[in-house]
Order: sequence, then structure tokens, then C-alpha cells
Amino acid sequence: MNIEHIPGITKFGYPQGREGRSGLRPTALVIHVMEGTIRGTTSWFMNPRANVSYNYGVGKDGRIVCWVRDENAAWANGKIQKPTWKGLLKRPNGYINPNLHTISIAREGRNSELCTPRQYQSLLHIARLMIDKYRLPINRNTVIGHYEIDSRKPLCPGRINLDHFVIELRKNGQKKEEGGELLGLSDVL
Ligand SMILES: [Zn+2]
Repeated sequence: MNIEHIPGITKFGYPQGREGRSGLRPTALVIHVMEGTIRGTTSWFMNPRANVSYNYGVGKDGRIVCWVRDENAAWANGKIQKPTWKGLLKRPNGYINPNLHTISIAREGRNSELCTPRQYQSLLHIARLMIDKYRLPINRNTVIGHYEIDSRKPLCPGRINLDHFVIELRKNGQKKEEGGELLGLSDVL
């Protein structure tokens, strides 16, 4: 499946525009909802006043775009408010910025909408790619919603059942391993 890279997003890294993740590796995927379209989100990201970006976006038609490469931190979950996620990393005065060790993936649409079937499949696809690339276990501690970092965003990512998504991710992985496509055995161990 093709991933289209959208260039020109400046809001990545800490400080701004810095490559990499300050030496950290991704430990989790954070699912968001755009509250709009890929097109609208892209033009918002291009606005210098918008202090926000995602690594990936998944359209209703199933297309996958990349705004910030996953080697770099996006600006998506910087605010930590009454978090319920147990995977936040502590530092002396609080938490390490979770953007540095998470990959943000946003679904196109509104929080009240379900994913389209194509969109859901693409979401599984990009999540699976990241899980394989960073050797993440598949569970609700490694696949989370934005609201689990910021409880003042209770509607992000909205109507997607993440427990079910994790179950589907596992199935998806099994199928792939059975079929032997993409990964050799040494890659999955
Ligand atoms: Zn969000």
C-alpha cells in the first residue's frame, strides 16, 4: 500500500524542526481523529500559528499520508492532562514529552463518525507497519487514544473501539505471518 509523503510541515521535533526523537524510540501508537479532511488538516499544518502535526493520516478512501516521518517526533500529544496511560515516561519534574516516544496516526473525519471499511483496513495497515518496524507488542498500552494522554480531549479519536482494533491488529499479524508475506521469520522474532 502506497504511503504518500506530504512535504513542508515544519512542526516536528523538539525544538521545532529538529530531526529524530532525542534518542528515544517509539513505544506506542496514539490514534487521533482529524475533525476534518486530509486536505484541511494539511493546510492547517502549513499555518505557522498551528502548533500541531501528526506523523500519519488515513483518509476515508483508505489513502495513507505521512506529514512527519516516524523517525521524527510530531506535535500531537504534548499536553498531558490527567493521563490514564501507564506508558508515559517520567522525568524529575513530570513526564518526558510523549511526542518523543509515540507515533501519531489520525483518522480523517469527525469524532462522531465511524471509520469507513477501507479506512479501517488502512489504519490497521499503517499501525501494523509501525508495530513491525519498532517491534512493539500489540496491546492497549502500545495502541492508545489521544484521550488517554489528555483527558480534556475525550472525543479524540472518537468512535473507534480501540480494544477491538487491537484484536484486529493481532489477527492481521497472524494472517501475515501465516501467509509469509513481507516479513521473514527473523524479522518477527
Ligand atoms: Zn488528538
